[in-house]
Amino acid sequence: MTVNFADLQRKAGDYLLDSQIKLIDEAYRFAEKSHAGQFRDSGEPYIEHPLNTSLYLANLMQDAPTLAAGLLHDVVEDCGVPLSLIETKFGSEVKRLVDGVTNLSQMELLSQTHEFESNQPDQLIQRSESIRKMLVAMAQDIRVVLIKLCDRLHNMRTLQGKNIDKRIMIAKETLDIYAPLAHRLGIWDIKWQLEDLAFRHLDETTYRMISSNIAQRRADREKYLEEQCELLKSHMAPFEIDFEVYGRPKNIYSIHKKMIKYESQGKEYSEIMDLYAIRILVDSIEDCYKSLGLVHQLWHPINGQFDDYIANPKDNMYQSLHTSVMCDRGVPLEVQVRTREMHRIAEYGVAAHWDYKLGSRSGDDDRFAKKMTWLRQLLDWQQDVTGAEEFIESIKTDIFRDQLYVYTPKGDIRELPIGATPVDFAYRIHSELGNRCIGARVNSQIVALDTILKNGDLVEIISSRQSRGPSLDWLNPETGFVKTASARQQIRLWYRRQEKGAQIEKGVEIISTVKHRFGLTTNNSEIAKHFEFSTDEELMIALGNGSFSSSELEKYFIIKSSSDTGFGAQVEFRLEVVAWDRIGLLSDITTILSREKINISSVITSEPGDGTAIISLTLLAGDSSQMSRIFPRLDNVEGVIDVHRVETPQE
Ligand code: MN
Repeated sequence: MTVNFADLQRKAGDYLLDSQIKLIDEAYRFAEKSHAGQFRDSGEPYIEHPLNTSLYLANLMQDAPTLAAGLLHDVVEDCGVPLSLIETKFGSEVKRLVDGVTNLSQMELLSQTHEFESNQPDQLIQRSESIRKMLVAMAQDIRVVLIKLCDRLHNMRTLQGKNIDKRIMIAKETLDIYAPLAHRLGIWDIKWQLEDLAFRHLDETTYRMISSNIAQRRADREKYLEEQCELLKSHMAPFEIDFEVYGRPKNIYSIHKKMIKYESQGKEYSEIMDLYAIRILVDSIEDCYKSLGLVHQLWHPINGQFDDYIANPKDNMYQSLHTSVMCDRGVPLEVQVRTREMHRIAEYGVAAHWDYKLGSRSGDDDRFAKKMTWLRQLLDWQQDVTGAEEFIESIKTDIFRDQLYVYTPKGDIRELPIGATPVDFAYRIHSELGNRCIGARVNSQIVALDTILKNGDLVEIISSRQSRGPSLDWLNPETGFVKTASARQQIRLWYRRQEKGAQIEKGVEIISTVKHRFGLTTNNSEIAKHFEFSTDEELMIALGNGSFSSSELEKYFIIKSSSDTGFGAQVEFRLEVVAWDRIGLLSDITTILSREKINISSVITSEPGDGTAIISLTLLAGDSSQMSRIFPRLDNVEGVIDVHRVETPQE
């Protein structure tokens, strides 16, 4: 659809003063002149692109300098206009914004000259540089990123003009970086559009299948939702709440993601299409809770489906009450309740916090600053991260993945990626707490450190000043103690910082632990030689500072013991566990083994009479990675003092 400058004037005129419109007017004329004679790949005059970008910014109700910069965002890059001229004509603020966007565009060009998904070191460095620049720009002036998101949105809408390779590359980049970024900034209105547009180019068949399905069922769905809304309206009528209620559309990409999830649970496709959702908007928080009560009175709430994001806002400032109820004909219905102000923030996120009248952040500056903590944290971590690969890894797991919310003992909320453990939590609070962490309580119960945290858990870390630092087992991905890249980095950093003497000491300790576990007495020089270390000391240092992983060592021992004694290759082997005796000890141990799908062929328990129990297990080994997983898991069982392999008696 073609738009013209009058559309922008009208939209901006809704909330800006005439004097501010003047700036936008001048910017438009300047941009039009600069881009004269230029055309986009899709064929239309170039000016359409900055005009649309600026119009999207006006939809987000951004201030006049931002709208002007939206119009001027490509004149430096594409028309060779010097920044100094922008400054003379439009002032230093507009110049700074244009400069910021130009910087980001240059990095984009770099990444687009290469296959985006490539994992070649050069490309990785470029990608991580791109993301770094984006985050630095964000920390300096969030408006630069808003302009960039609107720029990308229009590019995605006009992607048809490009060749297929470029389309795929840009669509992937959008799904990988820009949509998650919009999500983290809470700008739902841009996020869902970017997702659907990118998905359409990446998997057109599925996209069309879902959208035609939605269209076919639209009439039925709308009729049903209308009935439910009417029912709710009459139920709420006597309570004098000023509210509106409407059926909530779902975006195609989110349906696709849900389909994948459902398929993995063996559910039918039709069940997904029948997900109904409504939203209730009211004026006050009090009315939110009143309305929720009325919803639950009318329809039966489904257990475990209630979330209070009003009392516990998400880090991207999102607030709402979420519930699921069972309504007419046994159909589950998702209900969201929020105030109109919360709705504005849910749709526009960070962008809604820009007060266009003051040209600065609005009154709840404090809250804004607090909610941006994750960004500062990220910028802190990046100083410790050396490798491009590590940086991208940390962005992907720690920032862009779905998050869960847990509580500190003081009742503060912390955000972690799904699958995070108490160790991740400890490092999220403070690196020192992570380094000294020796145990954890979740909802007052002592738990193993590899426990996967759930939404709403209250987590308390048990730490000790005597702790000798993080366990190297935590770095072994097989063990599942650490999920977040940031925690992994902090642990590596700790090891790298140890004194040489301490590193050697740690290395000696690790090697003797592993030997003990496997019941082997191989001498150290043999191991050093095998891994091509020139001296024993070098091996100890590498082990002690974490640059050589203990899991490598374990693999070596597993192979070695299988060739020495036949152990490890489906041959029976024996394990001895020494522990302080307690009720439930044996069942805790056998649960771990059965979770690892290791068969137990016999169990003998003896009690020496000093309060300990010795449990001798005869097991059928599967593969070697099972072995490296069970030692730290068994060590972690409450009361366990020692776990080691004992020789299988020869017949
Ligand atoms: Mn552009």
